[in-house]
Amino acid sequence: MAAKLLTGKEVAQKMDQDIQKDVLELKAKGINPALRIMIVGEAEDSVYYANSAKKMAEKNGILCEIEQLAGTLSQDEFVNILKQRNADKNIHGIIVMRPFPKQISEDVVKYVLSPEKDVDCFNPVNAGKIMAGDMTGFPPATPQAVMEMLRFYEIPMSGKDAVVIGRSMVVGKPMSMLLLGENATVTVCHSKTKDLPGVCKRADIVVAAIGRAKMITADYIKPGATVMDVGINPEGDKFVGDVNTDVVKEVAGAITPVPGGVGTVTTRVLLKHVVKAAKLQNP
Ligand code: NAP
Repeated sequence: MAAKLLTGKEVAQKMDQDIQKDVLELKAKGINPALRIMIVGEAEDSVYYANSAKKMAEKNGILCEIEQLAGTLSQDEFVNILKQRNADKNIHGIIVMRPFPKQISEDVVKYVLSPEKDVDCFNPVNAGKIMAGDMTGFPPATPQAVMEMLRFYEIPMSGKDAVVIGRSMVVGKPMSMLLLGENATVTVCHSKTKDLPGVCKRADIVVAAIGRAKMITADYIKPGATVMDVGINPEGDKFVGDVNTDVVKEVAGAITPVPGGVGTVTTRVLLKHVVKAAKLQNP
């Protein structure tokens, strides 16, 4: 059996259409949806990520400004700038890139970013909203991208057994809450889980968010299961997922590729959140 390939491109195209429609409606009301990406210092990864998000935002009619601040900025100075951006009515969504230079504490800054503008779930208020099933918040982009893909490809979730491998705040934990919100029966696994293949093999849906190249092999997968591969791991001059796609695709019913899977949808989720934020801020 060869699994159906759940590619991100179609999902992203549909999301682009919806975003562009919403952007036009907002602009007709005089609201120009705008995203601000703040970077402290010159981390190459952050600059690369911000530039590609900006390109995608502009393609969809969303204004995106990258604000690159000196890496020598004190914590108080950064907090003051962030408060000004919170108060700026022309900015609807803010992404604060991490890691910070060592003089700035993530645990302080995350509470300063306004939850209403926090489109990538940095402020714990938004993490709490996911726990509460409060849909006025912003889940982190990656687990939300997995949900967009599951919905687009009409993978049933209600009453299904889902296993999430990984318990980070950016992927694993919020992923488990989002699946629970769709009435899946969710098991969260991690590095201390006993008999991981056995636990995974009971699942109808497996989400791999581990950070270990090609770790998930056919032994972990129930025939016909859906496998969502969140991993992005460097291998030579390319990237591979957490799932050994070549062997797992012979057992699974559906599988996301890497590249071209979940990662393709992630930026669209951020843009969708900017639109949602602009609407919520202009009732
Ligand atoms: P992370 O913070 O390093 O968390 C990894 C999780 O995997 C931890 O909970 C860890 O367990 C668990 N784990 C590690 N080795 C394991 C093993 N041998 N067996 C079972 N569980 C194991 O990583 P992350 O930030 O969540 O990211 C996970 C992956 O997703 C990475 O490859 C990352 O590059 C990728 N990612 C992709 C996107 C995207 O847009 N597609 C976005 C963000 C991240 P413990 O908690 O016990 O240590």
